[in-house]
Amino acid sequence: IQEGCDKFCNFCVVPYTRGPEYSRSPEEIIKEAKDLILNGAKEITLLGQNVNAYSSQNKKGEIYKLSDLIMKLQNLEELKRIRYTTSHPKDMSNDLVHCYKKTKKLMPFLHLPVQSGSNKILKSMNRKHTREEYLSIIQNLVKVRPDINFSSDFIVGYPGETEQDFYDTISLIKEVNFINSFSFIYNPRPGTPASNLKEIDKETQKKRLITLQNLLEDIQKKENKNKVGELKKVLIENKMKNEPSYFGRIANSTPVVISNGNEKDIGKIIDVRIESYNRNTLFGVKENTEREAAA
Ligand code: SF4
Repeated sequence: IQEGCDKFCNFCVVPYTRGPEYSRSPEEIIKEAKDLILNGAKEITLLGQNVNAYSSQNKKGEIYKLSDLIMKLQNLEELKRIRYTTSHPKDMSNDLVHCYKKTKKLMPFLHLPVQSGSNKILKSMNRKHTREEYLSIIQNLVKVRPDINFSSDFIVGYPGETEQDFYDTISLIKEVNFINSFSFIYNPRPGTPASNLKEIDKETQKKRLITLQNLLEDIQKKENKNKVGELKKVLIENKMKNEPSYFGRIANSTPVVISNGNEKDIGKIIDVRIESYNRNTLFGVKENTEREAAA
């Protein structure tokens, strides 16, 4: 629904390669959503480079923000789940935060890249938000939707990152309890402002990445372990290749494999009792097999 980026983070080539932010018309998106639903879609993910910067006019000249689009889509009865990705903290406006209260069809999961927990590094990256502003967005979201979970992106070993800056990132991860995330060692991109900065040594970068990824993995495993025994609403997506199990996702997007599914479950939201887990996936059995669970 949206392309391009106007943010110009100092390490990123996207604003140069993809150009400025551009949003498709709301009418076009709503029509496409209706067509998908007619074809059986139960879940829609609104995609954009900076999806929450979405802004477009309809034919009457009314401005649609991402929150307006979500509220329009949630009126479509057969649509059960709405997601969007990827967001920038700067565009996490109050109207969007309040969508999580206004419609339960907006799934309680948000991928919100932060990159670093250190204000010094965030400034050097030109991220246009502070650690405190990021945490305040998280707190506001938790206030309106207590069951919401988060994931993020992290760049480790950015030029100038000290041990203290790194531990600021570690403490932010512990504070937010991200359920999964992407993390990378800083890699200079030719032509970006950050590529002119002095890099820190590779060994330190590697060590820090391992520390950070171990922490993310521990949190993810703990979160999955906590779900064992719980009954979860799972949207079944497909049968798994070369095995009799079926694959789906719970509201926060965690994958679930169920052992007693069948073809009729595909495209339905069913009750699944979680029995075991590994780092990335939950394993369970469906309950109430005779009726389709409500979203
Ligand atoms: Fe834009 Fe994201 Fe690249 Fe920053 S990191 S410039 S927000 S695409």
